[in-house]
Amino acid sequence: MWQNSIVAPSTLIGIFAALFGLIIGSFLNVCIVRIPGRKSIVMPASACPKCGAAIRPWDNIPVVSWVLLGGKCRACKTKISAMYPAVEVLTAVLFWACYHAFGLTTEALKWAIFSALMIVLVCTDLRERILPDVVNYSGFVAGLLLSLVTKPSDGTALWLANRMFDFPPPTPVLSLADALLGAAFGSGLLWLVAEAYFRLRGREGMGFGDVKMMLMAGAFLGLKRTLLTVLVGSVLGSVLGLAFMLARRKESDYELPFGSFLGMAAVLVIFFGTPVVNWYLSLMMVR
Ligand SMILES: [Zn+2]
Repeated sequence: MWQNSIVAPSTLIGIFAALFGLIIGSFLNVCIVRIPGRKSIVMPASACPKCGAAIRPWDNIPVVSWVLLGGKCRACKTKISAMYPAVEVLTAVLFWACYHAFGLTTEALKWAIFSALMIVLVCTDLRERILPDVVNYSGFVAGLLLSLVTKPSDGTALWLANRMFDFPPPTPVLSLADALLGAAFGSGLLWLVAEAYFRLRGREGMGFGDVKMMLMAGAFLGLKRTLLTVLVGSVLGSVLGLAFMLARRKESDYELPFGSFLGMAAVLVIFFGTPVVNWYLSLMMVR
């Protein structure tokens, strides 16, 4: 049958990944809105925040319903944030990209889960300057567990093991060690920055949320890509943050959503980080 079909199986799987992303994106919206307020993400069913009208199943179709309703509640015509369809489309695009870049593998699953976690954190930080503990800690555990079923990709654990043992440890051990190294350095680096800022300015500029966020992100990314994420996130934060402050003419004590910049950087690093890291390492070898 496939021979006669004009659509390749990989295209179909890609479309399925994107549609699955739309549905997960819809769930991520619920997480973004409810988790910072410590509300249940299961109960009650979705309702208009203004008039309380229950959202019917046919008005709850990702993206489509928002467009058909003109971004307004059917009952009271209150505007519904464009964040909802944006998160759904973004999740769909990232799920498709994970399949496209990593194929039908446990790696693709790992990066899809990581993308979903980053979308939630970017949005809660943008909206409320909150990086919820429950997302960070459950993500940290997920990162460690997923490291056991994916290949070690960082290489730091292997490098260390080659210097410590005659025989390299089994792959899952190396992979878990890479995850733990990434978590330790990611959270440690952010903790140092937070501590330095506190000593210099005498007040807290960064929440401890960023430290916990990088503990989680480090477990997924491993040491090298974690350091790259912090670097890219800082550059994004400086450039976009400065542009935003100039445009809005905000006061200098305006709190930047640093977690959002770290999250955006982490997503970029999933897809573009490895070539950058390899390029940097090759530069270091030449010298
Ligand atoms: Zn309403």
